[in-house]
Amino acid sequence: MTSIFLSQPVKSLFRLQESQAKALATLRIKTVRDLLYYFPKRYDSITSSKLIVDLVAGDQVTVYGRIKNLKTGKSFRGKMPKAEGTVFDETSSVKVIWFHQPYIAKLIQNDSLVKLHGKVSERNGVISMLNPEIEPVSSVPGTIGNSLFAEQGEDGASVGAMIPVYGESKGITSRWLYHALQKLFSSEDFSGIVDPIPEEIRERYSLPSLTTSLIWIHSPKKEADSVVARKRFAFEEIFFIQLKNEQQRAIHSREKAFIIETKSVDENGKVTGSKKTVEEFTSRFPFPLTESQHKSIEDVLADFAKGYPMSRLLEGDVGSGKTAVAASTAYAAVTSRPKGQNFGTLQVGYMAPTEILAKQHFESFIQYFRHMPISIGLITGNGCRKFPSKLNPGGWTDISRSQFQKWVANGEIAIVIGTHALIQKSVAFKHLAYVIIDEQHRFGTAQRQRLTKKQAQMPHLLSMTATPIPRTLALTLYGDLDLSLLDQMPSGRKKVITEIVVPAHRDNVYEKIRTELQAGRQAYVICPRIAEPDPDKEQTLAAKSVKAEAKRLQSDVFPEYRIDIMHSKMKPAEKDKVMDRFSRHEIDILVSTSVVEVGVNVPNASIIVIEGGERFGLSQLHQLRGRVIRGNHQPYCYVFTSESAQAKSGKVGQGARAAAPKQSDKTADRLKALVTAKNGFELSELDMAQRGVGELYGSKQWGISDLAMEAIKNIKMVEAARKEAKAIIEEHPTVEKLAAGFPLLSQALEAKKDIHFE
Ligand code: ADP
Ligand code: MG
Repeated sequence: MTSIFLSQPVKSLFRLQESQAKALATLRIKTVRDLLYYFPKRYDSITSSKLIVDLVAGDQVTVYGRIKNLKTGKSFRGKMPKAEGTVFDETSSVKVIWFHQPYIAKLIQNDSLVKLHGKVSERNGVISMLNPEIEPVSSVPGTIGNSLFAEQGEDGASVGAMIPVYGESKGITSRWLYHALQKLFSSEDFSGIVDPIPEEIRERYSLPSLTTSLIWIHSPKKEADSVVARKRFAFEEIFFIQLKNEQQRAIHSREKAFIIETKSVDENGKVTGSKKTVEEFTSRFPFPLTESQHKSIEDVLADFAKGYPMSRLLEGDVGSGKTAVAASTAYAAVTSRPKGQNFGTLQVGYMAPTEILAKQHFESFIQYFRHMPISIGLITGNGCRKFPSKLNPGGWTDISRSQFQKWVANGEIAIVIGTHALIQKSVAFKHLAYVIIDEQHRFGTAQRQRLTKKQAQMPHLLSMTATPIPRTLALTLYGDLDLSLLDQMPSGRKKVITEIVVPAHRDNVYEKIRTELQAGRQAYVICPRIAEPDPDKEQTLAAKSVKAEAKRLQSDVFPEYRIDIMHSKMKPAEKDKVMDRFSRHEIDILVSTSVVEVGVNVPNASIIVIEGGERFGLSQLHQLRGRVIRGNHQPYCYVFTSESAQAKSGKVGQGARAAAPKQSDKTADRLKALVTAKNGFELSELDMAQRGVGELYGSKQWGISDLAMEAIKNIKMVEAARKEAKAIIEEHPTVEKLAAGFPLLSQALEAKKDIHFE
């Protein structure tokens, strides 16, 4: 009965105009459930509106006034399109600028009354609002800046002093949503809604019931109510994700897998049995393994022997040696025979996100396996290769795709390395026992599944990532995977000397770089990230800035060096060519965007310059600097801050208004962590604490709401949700048993089936 009400279409309950129906569709509100779960973005209180004369930089405020001089244009220096205007109230005026949103000038009537919401900034003593939200209003509330007299909001919809503000679409206003929800709340069906979260669990964490939480989140009487309600919904979402994770684990553990046994150990830890050990393989490496590499290999080997497929995530900073772990464990697979067979070997599939990386892995695997009678194949969009070549047993040869497919299908090629091309249907394996995915966040769940579902019997899966993410986020997103950490760098590795460069020192730093270049090193220059919602436009803008920076460096700074560029607008083949030339040292300085080619290995490149450092998350900066730790040379990372940060920091101590120096201090402090933090994990935790998870890791990408993303900061909540989910799935390990024991939970999970938890 509950679920019938919840799944009822909104249009059957409300009389909607066509434009409203359209707007609801845009907002993805179809059913009563969607409507109830369409939470306010924030609450406006009369107290947060201010008179313009009272604005102080740093304020998050609502301002009412008349907008004048509305026009479009280009930003001062660059080619950024913008709209601007000035808003007047009876006390003063404030300049308003929208970068990248020139259309605002067309949406809003010049000289009309508007409500602005956003942050107040200041430059050279002049107050402005950048990219505020704007909406036309019919009147200005009379109580601005005077909280004592807080009363009903302008539209009469406010309860107490908290007015819910929703994401709106033309035809559906916050006011409409408010009234629609009130109507639902007063219906009999609403009070009949049963909470899918078992009462026992709610009581344990003092979470209000579903109906109470819905009322509190949409129309709180006081702030505490909305906070508790948000907490409940965050818990609910994380709890459901954890249930899904645990369910996935339970399902997995019932699957059969290839048993790969590497050695037998007796009670005393003594190796018995005659099987080759992985140690024989790793002892040939030109370096001793780090302890965490050893540990990770052991983790994988233990999983291999369990009889059900491994699902493991290997997280390790760039340069921590994930490939060696991949190779050693691949060795265990390809030295094992398929069950009941005394010929042939199990096979390994190794997928990389780019052609350059796939080729690099192919080369390293040849080095690792060249002493063995093992064939290695490479498949990319541009063709196939096989090692060893018949004519030249020390090297590889190009082979046709059909030949390649034949040899993979009959099991002759034991290790298959490739890009996305690997997951095509036409690539069929004989005994695919082990799948390794490099930089796993660059692949979608669907792509990963296609690789693990290539045959009836599921292979073991090792996902590798260099993106250090906070522990709580990992527990949520990858809760269905077991975790191995490479939190140790190989010994003897030189630490990247990192400097946050104040603008005045730019030239000195260029001189330092020149010294390194003269000594024969190479450098990367990374151009700033560009905030632009349209990805295609973003790439175009980024490509432009890369070209411009390369030109500037060539003509003004390093005329004597060979400079070239790389960006994501280039074709893969072009990028490959540039990268090849860079690795052959035909290029001294490579100017690039931040998005291209993670993990590429050019040992002679020991310098990285990052422009616009304040635009990156710390973990992102850390990953970028990871590109220069591959060689034996002392690596350097110079993080430049951009002009706007310059202006701000230049003002410190010159009697500027209080808020401005605070902002620049924060930027500098934030970046300083790059110098002090021990590893990427520490930086990711800092990122999360300072900037929130959603902004950094993009909640949309994972199908997690902003609300839950925010709550992921709270390790206690994540662990509680995980513990409860584990307990339930332990008792109800199959989909059927869960449906019988917790019908509402199971329904809720089914409803979320389409979302990719990745
Ligand atoms: P990533 O984790 O970024 O994939 P790689 O596997 O590419 O790192 O390893 C980076 C470099 O470190 C490679 O040149 C590799 O040979 C080397 N390496 C790996 N493990 C060790 C170790 N234990 N000691 C010294 N060098 C190592
Ligand atoms: Mg790697």
